[in-house]
Amino acid sequence: SFTADVVPQAPEDPLFGLMTAFRKDESANKVDLGIGAYRDDNAKPWILPVVQKADDLIRKDPNLNHEYLPITGLAEFREASQKLVLGGDSPAVKEKRAHTLQAVSGTGALHLGALFLAKFYKPNTKRTVYLSDPTWPNHFQIFNNVGLPYKSYPYFSKKTKALDFDGYIDTLQNADEGSIVVLHACAHNPTGVDPTQGQWKKIADVIRAKKHFPFFDTAYQGFASGDLTRDAWAIRYFVEQGFELCIAQSYAKNFGLYGERAGCFHFVAAPSSDAESTATRVASQLAILQRSEISNPPAYGARIASLILNTPELFAQWEEDLRTMSGRIIEMRKALRRKLEELGTPGTWNHITDQIGMFSFTGLTEQQVLKLREDSHIYMTKNGRISMAGLNTKNVGYVAKAFDKAVR
Ligand code: PMP
Repeated sequence: SFTADVVPQAPEDPLFGLMTAFRKDESANKVDLGIGAYRDDNAKPWILPVVQKADDLIRKDPNLNHEYLPITGLAEFREASQKLVLGGDSPAVKEKRAHTLQAVSGTGALHLGALFLAKFYKPNTKRTVYLSDPTWPNHFQIFNNVGLPYKSYPYFSKKTKALDFDGYIDTLQNADEGSIVVLHACAHNPTGVDPTQGQWKKIADVIRAKKHFPFFDTAYQGFASGDLTRDAWAIRYFVEQGFELCIAQSYAKNFGLYGERAGCFHFVAAPSSDAESTATRVASQLAILQRSEISNPPAYGARIASLILNTPELFAQWEEDLRTMSGRIIEMRKALRRKLEELGTPGTWNHITDQIGMFSFTGLTEQQVLKLREDSHIYMTKNGRISMAGLNTKNVGYVAKAFDKAVR
């Protein structure tokens, strides 16, 4: 019954396909600018020193075992995560209108939220999810898989290599009332372009006026600017403004806990006399969804993150490690731009230092991307997105020369 007309061959995931091609390349000069994972100056994965320390402490604990976590996850991890994203003195936390479940990293949190919305958000009406154009490609299938249709809102202007703010606002204004809007909290993937605080305020105004539902995706808190508070600004602003919203939070990048799948899903009810009861009812349904999907979340990464989040000295060291990662990336942005400008490479390159976070949208065309792969063994996604973490002091000159050659 699983013939090709029923189950056609699906294409390979483009990003994981790129990783395979890179691994197979035997050139000594090869450079991986595809992967969305931090690398140190020797192009090696980096275990955050604070994570190493927490891991050592946990392994020494004689009471450690492999029992199940509760359905909603590790309590002290959930509480600390809520504070991290919403702020220690958040009104939503004080008024008990926020509810948090541990999730299978950011992807699992997005899925849980999508599933919840598919089941309970304005059921039996036409609902549309608005995703930025472009966005992290997994967003499409996460919402599609639960039966929520999506549309795009303009985000990136190819001409200015910056935010298409007018297109963005215009589309949200003309969308059906009550649409779901997915917002990258900071360090937009793939463009590296974020709205300014003033622009966020206008985005919030339109979302309020049109009664849209904001769904924040936060995968880079602290990793983007090196400052945990600054990177949470947009979310906290929306909460302060009294929105009902949800948040998918990933600890993959900011703790370097990629494969441990640590993250949380948060629901925040709007302030009202029955906000606490709304949060409680929502929590009860989320627990049922979680139980049927994963039963209970994975323990190890959450234990590591929890120990760090709940121990002031470890937390301070974590902030230091975050500054190490974001600082190195900012240095690489400067170096790449400087080298391209020194070479007189055609075009403007200020966007490389204007953009923020792990990625930069170079403006390279698909043809140039393929040429770079063939001629110079430099790997990036076809849309010209590069992971800044793949650059280091040893290869940035080589990459700049290759870009220069490819665009001439
Ligand atoms: N959202 C965005 C925008 C991302 O870039 C990522 C990581 N690539 C995620 C969510 C979630 O990743 P993970 O499931 O590994 O936490």
